[in-house]
Formats: sequence, C-alpha cells, structure tokens
Amino acid sequence: MACQLSWIKKVYASLLQPDACLLCLGRLSGQALPICSGCQLDLPWLIHGCCHCALPIPVGDVECAGCQQRRQPFQQVHCAWRYDFPLDMLIGSFKYASNWPAGRLLSLLLASHLEYLHQEDGLELAEVLVPVPLARKRLRQRGYNQAQMIANWLSKGLQVPVLSQAVDRIKTTKIQQGLNVHQREANMRNAFAVARPEQISGLHVALIDDVLTTGATCAALARALLAAGARRVDVYCLARTGLSGTAAADFGP
Ligand SMILES: [Zn+2]
Ligand SMILES: [Zn+2]
Repeated sequence: MACQLSWIKKVYASLLQPDACLLCLGRLSGQALPICSGCQLDLPWLIHGCCHCALPIPVGDVECAGCQQRRQPFQQVHCAWRYDFPLDMLIGSFKYASNWPAGRLLSLLLASHLEYLHQEDGLELAEVLVPVPLARKRLRQRGYNQAQMIANWLSKGLQVPVLSQAVDRIKTTKIQQGLNVHQREANMRNAFAVARPEQISGLHVALIDDVLTTGATCAALARALLAAGARRVDVYCLARTGLSGTAAADFGP
C-alpha cells in the first residue's frame, strides 16, 4: 500500500508540473507531459501497420497475410507503438508494478495520436470506450485493471465516455502465454457476455487494452459486442507486437 501511495503522489506531482523525463530523468521545463522531446521521438512509433489489425508490415503492403486469409471481427486496430524497448519496460512496470505515471503518460500520448488521426486523416472516433475486463481473481490479486485505467485517461483526452460494466467475463480462461493462435481462440470462445446490450446498441465501440498480440481476446469481445447490437468495434491499444513478439508480450492479461 505504501508503494501504491508513493505512485499516487508521483502521478499527481506529474499532473501539476512534470519536472523530469520518465525515461532519461533529464530536467523538463514547460512540457505538459513527463517526457522530453528526444525520448518521445525515440519511442518505437508504429510507422506502418496492417490496415485492419495494425500488425507491423513492410511499407507498401496494405494488409497482413493473416487478415487476407481471415478478417477479425473488429474493424480496425489503432495503436501508437510497436511492442519494443522501452515500451515493453514502461508497459510492464505500469501493469505489474503500479507505475501509474508511465501508464498515464502512454495513454495521453495515445489520445494525442488518435486525435491527430481524427483531425488529419478523418479517423472516425468511437462513441464509447470499453476496457477489456480482467478476470475477477486477477483483479483481486493486482488491485486494478490496467485497461480500465488506460480507458479513463483516453476518455479525458478524447472526450469519449467509458462503459466500465458493459462486458462480463463469464468463463475462467487459461493464461494465454504459450498457446498458439488456435488454442488462444478456443480458450477465449464464449468467455464474455454483454451485461447491458442497450448501452452499446447501434454504437461504434472501441475496446481498450494495453498490448495486442494475436487479438484473440479482443476478437472474442468484438463478437459478443456485435452480437449484442454494436454497430462497429475497433481496438485502441498502446502497443502491437510483431509476429515474433507473440509470446513475449503475453505474461498474462
Ligand atoms: Zn528523456
Ligand atoms: Zn492484419
């Protein structure tokens, strides 16, 4: 608890006046967010990804091989970064060690990225944000759902409401680490139920998560939301793994 309180103090201190870059610890002057311009430029921005699932692909390609064979039920994935250093370190410390300033920083940068795409490229922003729910047991162990926190920060940045209780996990699933694509799909099948269909009926929904790996969890959620009447489901997440990073990102939900 003492550890969490110290992070809370750091979150609010960085809200008021960030004085040091979270990555290089260099002094900041006047920046709105706790990252220096050099470190921000050096982040592993996802320059070119599949138009549906955002998998990093060679420049010139439009769709990845997986989406050419079979489209996911969600329409588009939007994320700002590849799951490479230092994103893996920042997300890991946010997710497993309550490093909330890192989570807030990445979420607000993602909100700016989405807002830029909305203004410059005509991205249709979602009407509601739905965080990927954690299993109850895992939520009790961790004490917080990182996807919920990202959704709350994105909501502030984008002025889009969050529906926290829209979806329930109704099945105990195995940890995805070590499972192949088909095993992951089978593991997540019928794992979710939409608690209040009237809240999402006819709406464009964005699922919110930290890292997208194979997309099996978001695909299961998207199917449930579409079956319950959602008009369209996208995914907003911080980072996307490449094909070789499939196992690396999934320490657990
Ligand atoms: Zn820096
Ligand atoms: Zn794809």
